[in-house]
Amino acid sequence: MNDYYKVLGVSSDATEEDIKKAHRKLARKHHPDLNPGNTKAEDQFKKIQEAYDVLSDPDKRKKYDMYGDAWQQGPFAGGQSAPGNQGYGDPFAGANAGGSINLEDLFGSMFSGGSPFGQNAPADDVEVSLDVSIEDAYRGASRRVTVTIEDTCTECGGAGQKRNNRGQFELNGGVCNRCRGRGRTAAQRALQVTVPAGAWDGMSIIQRGQGPADARGRKSDLILKVHLMPHPRYERDGQNILFDVQIPYTVAALGGEVPVELPSGTTRQLTVPPGIQSGQKMKLTGQGMPALKDRRVGDAFARVKIMVPKDLSDAEKQLLEQLGEIRRDPIRRNR
Ligand SMILES: [Zn+2]
Repeated sequence: MNDYYKVLGVSSDATEEDIKKAHRKLARKHHPDLNPGNTKAEDQFKKIQEAYDVLSDPDKRKKYDMYGDAWQQGPFAGGQSAPGNQGYGDPFAGANAGGSINLEDLFGSMFSGGSPFGQNAPADDVEVSLDVSIEDAYRGASRRVTVTIEDTCTECGGAGQKRNNRGQFELNGGVCNRCRGRGRTAAQRALQVTVPAGAWDGMSIIQRGQGPADARGRKSDLILKVHLMPHPRYERDGQNILFDVQIPYTVAALGGEVPVELPSGTTRQLTVPPGIQSGQKMKLTGQGMPALKDRRVGDAFARVKIMVPKDLSDAEKQLLEQLGEIRRDPIRRNR
């Protein structure tokens, strides 16, 4: 016999929520689109769908619990069962049938470039990746984000049923043309999202009630996972910021002041001690990533790169040769 509970890996007293969660998890794993050419995964996926089709329907589940495999031949058999299960009385009927579930049902969202696949989102919430620049993470930013998300069907209001000419649902009136009975359609949603100053790579920014809607219109959360983009100039190391600073060789030898630009765009004068070496790091205390939650403010580090000029004038060459002689450096004479 087909043990539908075993297929979904739940106990026979599992709640509707348990079943739904188990199904989503397994369907993600075995979905044919994620396992191309894998007939084993396809078979498993069909079994999962079949099990879910029965166990997610309280009426079917009750019959299955009573009659096992023969549940369809039980005394309630036939399509004429309880009239309440026809028409809009059960807007979910048909939604789980066969292999009709698609990736959008499982993952709920496609997002500009980011892939929500393979993320550990709670069953009903949707997680999408949000690319954030170091500058925005440093200063904090307000970002306009467009997500495509499963929303309540505007045509049928989530019922999944076709309306008649007077806008009413009818018994056996057929499925909604817009959502094909699912009660939900993919809809674009624009959000204004606050990226807090100090945001880190992998941080979750939760938008309450902005996730996909179920067929009853209840909305889950949208979780934006911060992806800190690489920057040509600034590196982030925990709460610290690291960047290169170019220092003329004269300043490196004699000391001086050089301007450095922080990710906020503000410029600081950095005091260079005489005799600084290439690769040495100078600390700008408290100028790293701002404090956020349990993370303390970081420091900024300017890593020294000593610049040697390539466009020496004759006067400069002469002076440098004199310096070289004083220090007995093995200089090459071209003149
Ligand atoms: Zn609809």
